[in-house]
Amino acid sequence: MSSISSYWDSFIEKLGKENNPVLYPLLKQAKIEKITNEEISLSVGSSGAYDFLAKRTTEIEQRFFNFSQKKIYLEFSIKIPVKKNIATPLLSFEPSIEDIFTRAGLNKKYNFDNFAVSTSNQVAYAAAQAVVNNPGSAYNPLFLYGGVGVGKTHIAQAVAKEILKQDPNKKVYFCPGDNFTNELIESIREKSTGRFRKKYRYLNLLIVDDIQFIAGKNAVQEEFFHTFNSIASSGGQIILTSDRPPSEIKNLEDRLHSRFLGGLTVDIQAPDFELRSAILLIKAKEKGIEIDIEAVKIIAERVTDCRGLEGALLSVYAKVLGIKEKIDLEAVEMFFSKSSEIKKKRVNPADVIKTVCSFYNIKQSHLKGPSRAASIAFYRQVTMYLLEKELGLTLIEVAEMLNRRDHTTALHAKQKISNLILRDSSLKKEIDIITQSLL
Ligand code: ADP
Ligand code: MG
Repeated sequence: MSSISSYWDSFIEKLGKENNPVLYPLLKQAKIEKITNEEISLSVGSSGAYDFLAKRTTEIEQRFFNFSQKKIYLEFSIKIPVKKNIATPLLSFEPSIEDIFTRAGLNKKYNFDNFAVSTSNQVAYAAAQAVVNNPGSAYNPLFLYGGVGVGKTHIAQAVAKEILKQDPNKKVYFCPGDNFTNELIESIREKSTGRFRKKYRYLNLLIVDDIQFIAGKNAVQEEFFHTFNSIASSGGQIILTSDRPPSEIKNLEDRLHSRFLGGLTVDIQAPDFELRSAILLIKAKEKGIEIDIEAVKIIAERVTDCRGLEGALLSVYAKVLGIKEKIDLEAVEMFFSKSSEIKKKRVNPADVIKTVCSFYNIKQSHLKGPSRAASIAFYRQVTMYLLEKELGLTLIEVAEMLNRRDHTTALHAKQKISNLILRDSSLKKEIDIITQSLL
C-alpha cells in the first residue's frame, strides 16, 4: 500500500465532512483499480458518474493536492459489472452499449449494417473486416483514403463498434485529426501532457480520422509518432483515414510516412451509380421516407457524391411533405428542374470555361493542363468556383471538368475564392462580370 492510498482515504473522508453532495458519494463508490505514487485509477459503474467525475478530473487533482501536497494523476473509467448486483445502489446501473459507443467518440449513425458495399469500396470493406477479426495483427495501421463523402468515417466507426461489441471493456477511441492536435496543444498549455499520453498510449484501438491535419505541426507529429509506437507495440490497432495517400500528405515527417505505409493502405473510390442508389435506399429507410425506385435512380444519376445524396433526399422530401405520401418520379423531376436557375438558361460547363478564358485572356489548354503557374492556378480556381456555385456541379464533377484527379482541389478552390471575394472587391467585380456574361 502506498502512502497515497491513505491520503486518498482521508481526502474522501474530508469531502464527506464537508457534505459535498455529489462528489463525495461518487468518489466513495468509485473502485480503486490502481494506485501508485503518481496516479490513481478509479472505475465507476455508470456513465452518469463517469461524466460527472471525468469532467472534474483536474479540479479533483487540485483539491487533492491542496489537501495532501501530493501531485497525482487521476484517471476514471467505466467498468461493466460482470454480474448484476441484486441490490442496485443509486447511480450504479450498467452502461449500455450506446453509452460505451458515445464514450469512444462514436456516432450512432454508422455501422456495418447500414454500409453498402460495391466495387468502389469492397477492398476497404474486406480490410475493415480483417481488422475486426484480428485487431492489432492483420494490418497495422489500416490506412483508408479517398475523397470527401466516400465513407471513410463511416467504415472506420463501424470497425470500432464491432470491436466494442465483441468486448465492451476494450479501450477504443475515435479521434478527429484536428481534435488530436487541439487536445495536445491544450495539454501542453495546461502542463497536463501526462494525462494526454495516458489517454492515447494505452488504447486497444485508436482511430484518427483525417490524419492529414497533423502534417506540418512538429510537436503534434512527434507526439503522434510515440502514440503510434506505443499502441502498436502493445498489440493495439490503429486506423487512419485521410483525403489523400501518405505520399501526398505534404510536410509529413519521414518516420510517420513510413509507419503509415507499414500496414495496409487502401483507397475508396467515388461511389458508382449502383452504390449511390443503395445508399439512398438505406438513408431513406433510416429516415422513414418512402421513395419510388424510379425516383431513387434519378437522384443517384444526378447527385454523384454521398453527402449530396442525403441532402438531395431531404430537400425533395421537404418539398413533397404534406403534399404526397412518398417521393415519386414526378416529385424528383420537379425538384431538379427548379433547383438551378442558370441551368434553365442552358449554360453548360464548357460555357463557363470559355467565358473565364476569354475574360482573363488565357488558353483553355492551359486551364485544363498541368501547369502550376500561380496565375493559371488562380484562374483555374475561379473556374472551379463558378462551376460549383453557378452550375451546381459536384466537386468531383468540377475536378473532372478541369482534368484534376483529386476533387479536394475543387474544394480548396471553392473555399479560397469564397473567402477572397469577401475581402477583395475587385475580384468580386470580376466574378460578377463573368457571371453576368453567362446569362
Ligand atoms: P468521408 O469520411 O469519406 O468523407 P463519410 O463516412 O462521412 O465520408 O460518408 C458521408 C455520408 O455518406 C455518410 O452519411 C455515410 O453514412 C454515407 N455513406 C458513404 N458511403 C456509404 C456506404 N458505402 N454505405 C452507406 N452509406 C455510406
Ligand atoms: Mg470523414
